[in-house]
Amino acid sequence: MTDTTLDVVLPQVTTLAARVVDARRTYGVGGTSVHALDGVTVGFPARAFTAIMGPSGSGKSTLMHCMAGLDTLSSGQAFVGETDLASLTDRERTILRRDRLGFVFQAFNLLAPLTAEENITLPADLAGRHVDPVWFDTVVQALRVADRLEHRPSQLSGGQQQRVAIARALVERPEVVFADEPTGALDSRASAELLTFLRNAVDDLGQTVVMVTHDPVAAAYTDRVVFLVDGLVVEELDRPTRDAVLDTMKHLGR
Ligand code: ADP
Repeated sequence: MTDTTLDVVLPQVTTLAARVVDARRTYGVGGTSVHALDGVTVGFPARAFTAIMGPSGSGKSTLMHCMAGLDTLSSGQAFVGETDLASLTDRERTILRRDRLGFVFQAFNLLAPLTAEENITLPADLAGRHVDPVWFDTVVQALRVADRLEHRPSQLSGGQQQRVAIARALVERPEVVFADEPTGALDSRASAELLTFLRNAVDDLGQTVVMVTHDPVAAAYTDRVVFLVDGLVVEELDRPTRDAVLDTMKHLGR
């Protein structure tokens, strides 16, 4: 008798790199309190590029900060991989951020006295970890900062500083890269380069990227857009095009 179980096609299981379950975050108390997140359940698949969009004040930053352990939920759960952030002490959350997450913010937060290379490896150096030299080369070449490694931030253009900050976020292959309006301060050419790099980091390097953006062009680089309004997920769009994102924004009434 042959064993037919080997022929069974298993369903593709999507691993979620980060997720929240019935996430609520209230700021303030009493009549002046604000429900920044009002019961959000959403997952961010590993090896995918996901955008979070929505009008100003809809809860995008709060969602990202709560998933990244920079802020804590009032109720509900936030997970990085299988780690429930509420089960961690403040110190353990700091270590989780350092060891498992990468951050790209509009402010590059590069240290002026250090060279580009020193900035890129600083988090690893502080943690006493060794940076994989092959991966380091891959990242700095992909980001076209390989010939700028000895420069200090003041000797770099804004776009170059941004790419150094992204190299720093990726150099330790974090489980999730959280990017908050990463193209907000860039011109359209620098934005396109940055978004292409994030896209390639997902497709070619297997990284997971979650990006807050208000820009439909930026959103069109992603695999999926999650739309928030008033602290709730109101729509999700797979394989978004710029026009589909614009249509959705219009029909959400903003
Ligand atoms: P978005 O990123 O979509 O612009 P936010 O997550 O920053 O939205 O904010 C959602 C809501 O929560 C807004 O009404 C904002 O004013 C409020 N909020 C955010 N952070 C705080 C805070 N630290 N204290 C009080 N209210 C806050």
